[in-house]
Amino acid sequence: MKRGEQTHPMTGNPQKPMTLALEAARDAARQGEVPVGAVIIRDGVVLASASNRTVTDQDPTAHAEILVLREAARKIGSERLIDCDLYVTLEPCAMCAGAISFARIRRLYFGAGDPKGGAVEHGPRFFSQPTCHHAPEIYGGLGETESATLLKEFFKERRNENT
Ligand SMILES: [Zn+2]
Repeated sequence: MKRGEQTHPMTGNPQKPMTLALEAARDAARQGEVPVGAVIIRDGVVLASASNRTVTDQDPTAHAEILVLREAARKIGSERLIDCDLYVTLEPCAMCAGAISFARIRRLYFGAGDPKGGAVEHGPRFFSQPTCHHAPEIYGGLGETESATLLKEFFKERRNENT
């Protein structure tokens, strides 16, 4: 364990990391960002936690998943996140699915499905393509209701502000 590394002892219960991801998503909403949060866990320890920062960072690639992959890779000191599990509140897009594959994430847990922008169960179904060289084990629908409600409320408020 490197100095300065944030560690939180976790149980093997997948609900707990998803609760952290949901907290990160709520933070995003407070910053005016689309409320999506992600967490990476290895051996029951949180390696990284982040929420969407595309507006704040003026970076179209600053999705929660990309941010946690970067942070965890930096902490581990490797671009391969072996034995790491990623939790995200929304079905990953094509960019993030690609990054998750490159990182060799072991398990992917996501909350709400995203028929408009998702790339796991929708659209390109990235991990099922023959050009995908590493697919994580996938568990959808964890904390789905809370994730979806957060997003719905966020977009509803935004629509109200714009009228
Ligand atoms: Zn994404």
